[in-house]
Amino acid sequence: MYKDKLINNKNPQTETLSSQIKNLLDSQIVDWELAKNNYKGLESVKVKDFSFDGFSIKIQFNPSRIISTSAKVDAKSIQERKCFLCKENLPKVQTGIDYKNEYIILVNPFPIFPEHFTIPKVDHKPQRIKENFEDILDLSKDLQDRYAVFYNGPKCGASAPDHMHFQAGIKNFMPVDYEFESIQKITLSNSDNLRISYTENYLRNFISLESPDKYQITKAFNKVYDSIEQVEAKDDEPMMNVVASYQNDEWRIIVFPREKHRPSHYFEEGEKQILLSPASVDLGGVCITPREDDFNKITKRDIKDILTQVGVGKEKFDKIISGI
Ligand SMILES: [Zn+2]
Repeated sequence: MYKDKLINNKNPQTETLSSQIKNLLDSQIVDWELAKNNYKGLESVKVKDFSFDGFSIKIQFNPSRIISTSAKVDAKSIQERKCFLCKENLPKVQTGIDYKNEYIILVNPFPIFPEHFTIPKVDHKPQRIKENFEDILDLSKDLQDRYAVFYNGPKCGASAPDHMHFQAGIKNFMPVDYEFESIQKITLSNSDNLRISYTENYLRNFISLESPDKYQITKAFNKVYDSIEQVEAKDDEPMMNVVASYQNDEWRIIVFPREKHRPSHYFEEGEKQILLSPASVDLGGVCITPREDDFNKITKRDIKDILTQVGVGKEKFDKIISGI
């Protein structure tokens, strides 16, 4: 158990979960050298913007992300390393906030967002979305005043595919958050309680679910999951990234079906290589390059190519849509 890692919440009745974890961040960047340096470093990271038709993609040069970007996530490498999300392997100085006795909310010491959290399950269980879907709904609702919650599939950017975890970051940092209403979407179905839509021209197309009803949105997610599984059968789970948020009394779930873990650029050598390993945040519109060279040389065409490669192709996407 993580018990000795938990800090006490002074005002459980009056403080929202968001403000509790914001306080956690404020105290960890005082006590924890690594977190302090990396959050400080974030203030001076380089960012550039590429405009596409009706949306934009940001590139963030962030050297502290090299560990995650280049993480070896094959079964053998995972087995040979200590799990960095298990309680006994957390740094001594790291503390966290309990969530329902099932998760612990921790400060991510290698941030992309100015406020970035990792939310591992207490138990060392594999990264799976279907059986934990209700938790991403609860978390996004409980954090609605400040944060969006996201999930990276075991082969879609999670650097601990063996230990179930979500992440949270401030809302409206990823372009998909603030572009959502304005980007072109096609409505697949729309009832009082549930709207299902999808994009066709967003480079990395997604399916979105919006509903105030937990039962309805869960049922719809399961349908989307099953449809992706039909088209993209995989050993552990169909490949996807999920971004969840809660506003105006309803959930918004964005599912990015995936075809590839990493684009061909990742495996090139020398000049041709671009070290970019897309996960939820990249698909959300903030692509991370941990090497400055890659940040400098990456072009609009590269971005288009990278995102198109890791998302599912048109034919498969159409099949997924028709299966929902
Ligand atoms: Zn673990």
